[in-house]
Amino acid sequence: MQNTTRQTRENRTITVDFQNEATYFQLLGDGKAFLECILAFVMSLGFQLKHKAICSGGGCLTRHSHYARVRLGGVTIWRIQCTTCRAVFTVLPHFVLRYRQMRPEVARDALMATHGGLSLAWCAVICHISPMALYRLVCALGQQSVVTVLTRCGLPLPTYFLADEKHSHCLTAKVYLPTIVTGRVIWHLGYTEEASATAFTQSYGEFQRAASQQAPSYRVKGVLTDGFDSTTKSLRTLFPGARLGTCLRHALNKLPKKLAAIPSPVRKALRSKFHTLLYRARQRKGLRVFALGQRLRHFADHVAHTAGMANAERVRRWFQEKKAGWYTVLADPQMPVTSTLLDQAHNAIERKLFAMKGFHHPKGSQQAFLRGLAHLYNLVPYQRRATHAGQCGVEVEGGTVPTQDWFLNLQILTSGGFR
Ligand SMILES: [Zn+2]
Repeated sequence: MQNTTRQTRENRTITVDFQNEATYFQLLGDGKAFLECILAFVMSLGFQLKHKAICSGGGCLTRHSHYARVRLGGVTIWRIQCTTCRAVFTVLPHFVLRYRQMRPEVARDALMATHGGLSLAWCAVICHISPMALYRLVCALGQQSVVTVLTRCGLPLPTYFLADEKHSHCLTAKVYLPTIVTGRVIWHLGYTEEASATAFTQSYGEFQRAASQQAPSYRVKGVLTDGFDSTTKSLRTLFPGARLGTCLRHALNKLPKKLAAIPSPVRKALRSKFHTLLYRARQRKGLRVFALGQRLRHFADHVAHTAGMANAERVRRWFQEKKAGWYTVLADPQMPVTSTLLDQAHNAIERKLFAMKGFHHPKGSQQAFLRGLAHLYNLVPYQRRATHAGQCGVEVEGGTVPTQDWFLNLQILTSGGFR
């Protein structure tokens, strides 16, 4: 199975916004103006070009060679070269997609429709392209790591995050999508065929490595999970010293399952009492950890009175198992309390996978496809309420995007030639 990204040679493509096509064709005839335009654009982004390791990037750039994109009606594409390290950058104007014949307007509409949950097959019908072309487009976006794109937008690496795995299917086989979320952005969307700690460690490890490459001193302070054993084990291995909390809302939803053979109103009343307990514990600030232990004991006694000893025993054992994770959430005010935002991200991804029948074949490029979907989730503007109207997830979290145009942002930010 092809889950890893194949890298044949260094991708130093950069997408440059020439505003309109006429400007681009005009600049083709003037080498000096062409280079100045590119340098001004790169500078305006605040990015640097990815020179070779030995080069400080202070040297000159020259036009190196050009070729014509025959399938695009002979559009001339220039390559520029650093005179010091001889790194060659391919300059794609904003109206050309890397390795693709598809026009950006078509790609933009098809991606928006995919992101909105329309199946690849239907997207292909409304945009007059093949479903496979759309699938490959999403995979191409997924060649660039999520961490790279998000840090290019100025987002700090997350010191607190939510982590959990989405369960999905590939044909009849169960597969898992290990996911890391903070607020409205996905930092990691992996793919594993097993639910073992080893498999999850490998997947979350990709995020850990990418983050450490950005900032060698990167440390995670707290992670919220739903308490699944393989998840906590893998996170403990990768982020020693991080506090691992357990989702309080998850706890609330689990309680009724611990209460067997009692009338429904009694079960509902107990759930409501448990809700109040967790809510009050959160209000207690400094005292809340101590308060929780005492309240849990009282609650178990109350279960014994109303639902019998067997239920009370089951609830006590469950408390014993989970309470450390709840304490952790309550002890650190910066810890996320519920995994709601992660569930929202999972639901959004699930709609696409459900609509994407081609995902269900074992030879697909699952990992690249999922990363492509993660980029869309982070960069497509989203409007739920008036606050943050028209902003993408990255902007909601305080990041900045290069332009007003989400699709151009996607092209620029997933370019391989920037550092
Ligand atoms: Zn150089």
